[in-house]
Amino acid sequence: MISQAKRQLYAGPCAQRSLSRKTKIRQIETAMHRPIIARCEAKGLRMTTPRRVIARVLQDSDDHPDVEELFARANAIDEGISIATVYRTVKLFEEAGILDKLEFGDGRARYEDAEREHHDHLIDMNSGEVIEFVDPDIEALQEKIAAKLGYELRGHRLELYGVPKKP
Ligand SMILES: [Zn+2]
Repeated sequence: MISQAKRQLYAGPCAQRSLSRKTKIRQIETAMHRPIIARCEAKGLRMTTPRRVIARVLQDSDDHPDVEELFARANAIDEGISIATVYRTVKLFEEAGILDKLEFGDGRARYEDAEREHHDHLIDMNSGEVIEFVDPDIEALQEKIAAKLGYELRGHRLELYGVPKKP
């Protein structure tokens, strides 16, 4: 049972860092949902150059960057982008439902594309690394609990916090 759970745990997109897998995931995700810029435009947001750069950076991120990390990535592309612009832009995108804001208990808000395929997060409390996973048993159990309480499940958010086991 443990080995099965572990296998599923490490099946998440962020678990394996090999480039080929990352590229593959990106291709799948790109095929699955519209680019962030297109969604912003569809929502009627005015897409200035800094907003386009930030949208592009978010589009190319398959991790969970906070504002400072997004600022570093956006600023590397366009030096004119300030951290204040990044703050305002992620807030705007979040309010438009384009980004999900994640809080992992360390006071730093992180962001990911709201249209990414559903997954849960395990946070390594030592390194801060965020591991993504999907567990069919957990998914089914949550549906069952909601149904038992008289609800049809529309979504959930699950965060696990742990430290690596000593080998
Ligand atoms: Zn995630």
